[in-house]
Amino acid sequence: MPTRFIFITGGVVSSLGKGIASSALGALLQASGYTVHLRKLDPYLNVDPGTMSPTQHGEVYVTDDGAETDLDLGNYERFTGVATRQSDNATTGRIYSTVIARERRGDYLGATVQVIPHITDAIKEFIQADLHGEDFCLCEIGGTVGDIESLPFLEAIRQMGNELGRERCLFIHLTLLPYIPSAGELKTKPTQHSVKELLSVGIQPDILLCRTDRPIPETERRKIGLFCNVPQERVIAALDVDTLHVVPINYHAQGFDDQVLHHFGLKRPSPPDLTRWAEIVARVREPEGEVTIAVVGKYTNLLDSYKSLGEALNHGGLANRVRVKVKWVDASLFETRDVTEHLEDVHGILVPGGFGERGSEGKIKAARFARERRIPYFGICFGLQMAVIEAARNLAGLPEASSTEFGPTTAPVVGLMTEWIKGNQLEIRKASGDLGGTMRLGAYPCHLRSGTKVHAIYGHDTISERHRHRYEVNTTYREILEKTGFVFCGLSPDGLLPEILEREDHPWFIGVQFHPELRSRPLDPHPLFCSFIKAALHQSRLV
Ligand code: GLN
Repeated sequence: MPTRFIFITGGVVSSLGKGIASSALGALLQASGYTVHLRKLDPYLNVDPGTMSPTQHGEVYVTDDGAETDLDLGNYERFTGVATRQSDNATTGRIYSTVIARERRGDYLGATVQVIPHITDAIKEFIQADLHGEDFCLCEIGGTVGDIESLPFLEAIRQMGNELGRERCLFIHLTLLPYIPSAGELKTKPTQHSVKELLSVGIQPDILLCRTDRPIPETERRKIGLFCNVPQERVIAALDVDTLHVVPINYHAQGFDDQVLHHFGLKRPSPPDLTRWAEIVARVREPEGEVTIAVVGKYTNLLDSYKSLGEALNHGGLANRVRVKVKWVDASLFETRDVTEHLEDVHGILVPGGFGERGSEGKIKAARFARERRIPYFGICFGLQMAVIEAARNLAGLPEASSTEFGPTTAPVVGLMTEWIKGNQLEIRKASGDLGGTMRLGAYPCHLRSGTKVHAIYGHDTISERHRHRYEVNTTYREILEKTGFVFCGLSPDGLLPEILEREDHPWFIGVQFHPELRSRPLDPHPLFCSFIKAALHQSRLV
């Protein structure tokens, strides 16, 4: 049977959790033995989110093949374990630039190029490209029904429903059922309007997923079914939850997966096996302890900027059966205030990825505090770079030590990468190049030096991790940095690029040039996060 498509649209308001809904349904279908693939269409004009500020759009999620994508792809990977690719996230900008490039090449043979059929054809092409016989492809449509921007996407999926037939396409619409305290009721009107909006573009949803803070009473369920032309058992409650990991379990309890399979005429031999999810939920709800980790960053006013990081810390906690309390600290605070009052009570300090000079001095202070007080320190990308600058300044007598990211310096211990090997090819960059899509992106291998902490943590000689950076620890300073106590324990296979540095004079001080948080999953937590939380747990017993 060729791949079946499940389209997930959203209505009423944004942020209802379409990404989680899609991911959890994916996980649920997997638990019944089916293979799934998830992808997302985003209605904005940026070609990808790589150039967008994390405080606007949240984290940029990087795939193995080096695509800068929407953070929902991180949810897809965390729930299903299926690695996402460049071909799993398209924006209006990307679709249009593909069509315009074709037009310039003359591919349309003199035709007038239009939204219908040329843009919609390109969207349909994208939805169906690069699939490999998976049982289901779940395709999330970003934005909210009724937005001007998402119209071509809705038109494209409407056409697919027609062309492939309903036996290969299913439409799920996620809406909001608000509870109005003065009426003492869950209100169905916004859902009715949203479905009407969807109907106006020719899409009749097959299943309604209604986000609510309480169970939907029978009368409301009947009413929604009646007004929205959906059988009552296909009105599913998407209840607010204390942990995301319980969503697949809740969905199954509501019969969501049964309705999906029923639509496609499928019968599964036995109920889905959700024991691993249940085990995670039990660990979340009944931790055996707690550790506090300070994350010293600059996008702390929008926590979605650190989505994968927050999740990876939780995964490290799950592995150690403890709750991880994250203290989000704005690095710029340390420009005027002493770090001690904010950091002395924490059990681990993490400086995450970041860009630009603002807040960097605060991160450098945090790294120094962790080094001197022997508090576990985890530097990720920028966090590694700041730790190196700190050591160069305070231990190697280079007060000018800095990164060329912040402007010219006489001691560039962190410098712009101008060339590196990608596959068999040499990539070359200049300071004056484009900003979009020009970083060292995606998975690269790294050799670990035996006898080091990271080697023991990973238990492998070679690892592969995802990158997103333009600057790199400058190996001209290698000897100087080694004298300060840093060990260059992970290098690119050609030995030219430092990937991991650890301190030999500290219980747990590790900086990585890549983003391990992108690879961590609740069912398969990342070894560095497990080890960091373990060290933090140890620290918590000391203080
Ligand atoms: N700004 C730094 C660089 O480009 C770090 C990037 C990051 O932390 N992802 O190298």
